[in-house]
Amino acid sequence: AKALSDKLKALDGQAKAKTIVVIGGGLSGLACGKYLSDSGHKAVVLEARDVLGGKVSAWQDEDGDWIETGLHIFFGAYPNMMNLFAELGIEDRLQWKRHQMTFAMQEFPGEFTTFEFPGWPAPLNMAAAILLNQKMLSPLEKLQTGPPLLPMLVEGQRFIDAQDECSVTDFCKKYGMPDRIIKEVFIPMAKALDFIDPDKLSMTVVLTAMNRFINETDGSQTAFLDGNQPDRLCKPIVEHIHQRGGKVRLGAVIEEIVLNEDASVKHLRLRGGEVLEADEYVSALPVDVFKRLLPAQWSSMPFFRQLDNLEGIPVINIHLWFDRKLKNIDALCFSRSPLLSVYADMSTCCKEYYDEERSMLELVFAPCAAIAGSSVNWIAKSDDEIVEATMKELERLFPTEIGEKLADGARLRKSRVVKVPRSVYAAVPGRNKFRPSQATPIRNFTLAGDWTSQKFLGSMEGAVLAGKLAAQVVSERALSIPSQVKRVADFIIEQPSKAPEGI
Ligand code: FAD
Repeated sequence: AKALSDKLKALDGQAKAKTIVVIGGGLSGLACGKYLSDSGHKAVVLEARDVLGGKVSAWQDEDGDWIETGLHIFFGAYPNMMNLFAELGIEDRLQWKRHQMTFAMQEFPGEFTTFEFPGWPAPLNMAAAILLNQKMLSPLEKLQTGPPLLPMLVEGQRFIDAQDECSVTDFCKKYGMPDRIIKEVFIPMAKALDFIDPDKLSMTVVLTAMNRFINETDGSQTAFLDGNQPDRLCKPIVEHIHQRGGKVRLGAVIEEIVLNEDASVKHLRLRGGEVLEADEYVSALPVDVFKRLLPAQWSSMPFFRQLDNLEGIPVINIHLWFDRKLKNIDALCFSRSPLLSVYADMSTCCKEYYDEERSMLELVFAPCAAIAGSSVNWIAKSDDEIVEATMKELERLFPTEIGEKLADGARLRKSRVVKVPRSVYAAVPGRNKFRPSQATPIRNFTLAGDWTSQKFLGSMEGAVLAGKLAAQVVSERALSIPSQVKRVADFIIEQPSKAPEGI
């Protein structure tokens, strides 16, 4: 990560400075703007909304409480994100938690179990965490978990990539993983990684995460940002871009990408009629939005046609404010409940939201639509119905503290539901090969966004890396250096004809 940053900085001053418009002010667009600035170009980042951050955006309600688009966790295995924090001088904003994983016990409502990672080097710390946990898996199950994962350890990334055609459930069956491991470990993992059930999720996603956790001593350690993302992370990136002569504009909705006769970009048309011309253009839009804006002339090109196979997954983020403090856990928790994925008590985990007296739970509700494995289309339900269903699940997680029948139970003060109908791309089997490179066949147009091809999944790390790779493509092109980023030709040869069924 640092080497790529240094490489981009070293390009500063070597080529004539260009003006590059970056569409989308999520983490990927902002990272792209930052690294373009570092390599000596003028970045103009355009964000449609009046708040930055996209899927990490947040805003305050009438009481001043922060509403977040998603509960976000940083992992030790996020090298580009960690490097970005270091470059911006804001590492102290990451609140690292004890190196452990906390799971609710399904059979024992109200109880939790932790996998404690001792301070030993990887992979010994993970082995110890699994072996020392006595509550979740039996000794035999622990032994049975090892052999199916051996090919990953021996063959590495090649094996991991080859598993993309296989769902998590199919992989477990093929390699004789006990059913209970699927239920106890892989369901929570799949829901946390892609808001999807394991029979829908590509095994490559799980193995990619596991590979990092096994090989990097701090890979699975988690951190919370110390406050809302627009102020605590996006703002320093914006300041960095401004200091280097760039701009970040809010409320700038791109409505059309207008082309020249040779299919290159002529200009962008914004809502309200404004026309913006630049030397180069980068899209850091979500895949579904980009597909809607795709100019007709590009839509028949195989490079862009492959995007028919990518689509965002729905997810719901819930905030529940209680009138008292619940069981105090200073960590991300895997709820292991049918409707919920991970959650955290933000009144404990996050400095800005800290409240000694009253809890605020932030919960990810998943899977929440058929594509993700849910039998109920929760994304179409009312906020009240979603909160009611969540409270029922919480009665099992907090049996002595939450429940209508409890005379002195914790009372809900208020709630807020944020629906994201299209979030990260659905990492269902067979999709990885359709993720496009940042370099495109268009001479003045580059792609960014967490869904573009990079080794991290649809995540904050993936978004930052994709933005950085896009900046590399543009900066190297300015110097006529052939792109080091995955060759466009690879994608032109692979010609997907139509989207597989079910998406
Ligand atoms: P986006 O954030 O979607 O940014 C795209 C931007 O484009 C948006 O700001 C949008 O407003 C803008 N835009 C759209 N249309 C236009 C237009 N016409 N003109 C101009 N701008 C436009 N990742 C983790 O690593 N850890 C986590 O714990 C985690 N939890 C998550 C929980 C939830 C509920 C969700 C939804 C996501 C979570 N993620 C997590 C994933 C992470 O948030 C994303 O991978 C990442 O933020 C994507 O960044 P991006 O810049 O690629 O896309």
